[in-house]
Amino acid sequence: ALFVLGSFVAACSAMVARLPRAGESLQAQAFLVEPGGKGLNLAVGARRLGAAVDGLMAVGDDALAGLAEPALRRADLPVGMLRRFPGPTGAGIGFTDAAGENCLAVFPGANARLGAAEVREAAERISSAALVLAQFEVGDAAVAETFRIARRAGVRTLLNPSPFRMPPPEILGETAILVVNAVEAASFGAALGLPVPEAGAGPVGWDGLAEGLLALGPELVVITLGAEGAVARPANGPILVQPAFPVPAVDSLGAGDAFAAGLAVGLAEGRPLGESLRRAAACGACVVRRKGVFDALPDRTALAAMLAG
Ligand code: ADP
Repeated sequence: ALFVLGSFVAACSAMVARLPRAGESLQAQAFLVEPGGKGLNLAVGARRLGAAVDGLMAVGDDALAGLAEPALRRADLPVGMLRRFPGPTGAGIGFTDAAGENCLAVFPGANARLGAAEVREAAERISSAALVLAQFEVGDAAVAETFRIARRAGVRTLLNPSPFRMPPPEILGETAILVVNAVEAASFGAALGLPVPEAGAGPVGWDGLAEGLLALGPELVVITLGAEGAVARPANGPILVQPAFPVPAVDSLGAGDAFAAGLAVGLAEGRPLGESLRRAAACGACVVRRKGVFDALPDRTALAAMLAG
């Protein structure tokens, strides 16, 4: 199984003609509350593509916590993934404008309570996983312990450091596959003094930064570039450029999660990197052309249709 660490977030999003300015109230065209969080998105994304999925996910003891179990059941994920903590469930609020651009803020809530102790209770499930995935809606201690257990057992780890904070060495040193979007890549660049490409540099312009990230230790660095697609830089080969699938952008929220899930499943199935990237980009495109994330994550039929063009 793929093992996904965290996170669960009650995701509220308003569709607006344009993003509101400070001090301004806008009328929204639509409003959506859905079970979300990067961890849930990764887990659902991978499960829908046919992978067996396991993991750890924290909720609080408030009304929003009640969204989690039905969501896991609906997605055919094991409800045994859930851990309950006193206090609020993670929650997020976002805006998506007419061009599909979005901005959001996420409160971690219970996700921040997942610690090394809960991870150690899951050590056997982590050690026997096909691949372990983590993102930064959970704390460093949980990620570090999960990755340490995984790498000791020879299990590959995928990190999507989003929302971005600089990963400490004990996480970076145990990361096999680093997946970042352009903003996260630029944040890395700024923190490490690496060259960040100018706007419009095109996918190949990211090679220098990808190479700098590779020097941090992973065996593969992938930078996603929204409608420009993605670039991948494996330690043992040259840069690969994956164009985006042309779709009308309705809501870009969750594109990166869908991409990471598609990449993880492709690699766990033993597919070559190029093919896994293409499938990942198709998963991203499937989510971008629809409002919301949970229902937009593709199953194998939707992925095959996107791949066929
Ligand atoms: P994030 O959601 O983390 O910001 P990106 O916006 O880079 O990540 O999107 C991840 C992937 O989803 C991209 O590499 C691309 O393959 C796909 N994608 C994103 N936006 C679009 C778009 N407008 N059209 C087609 N594919 C897209």
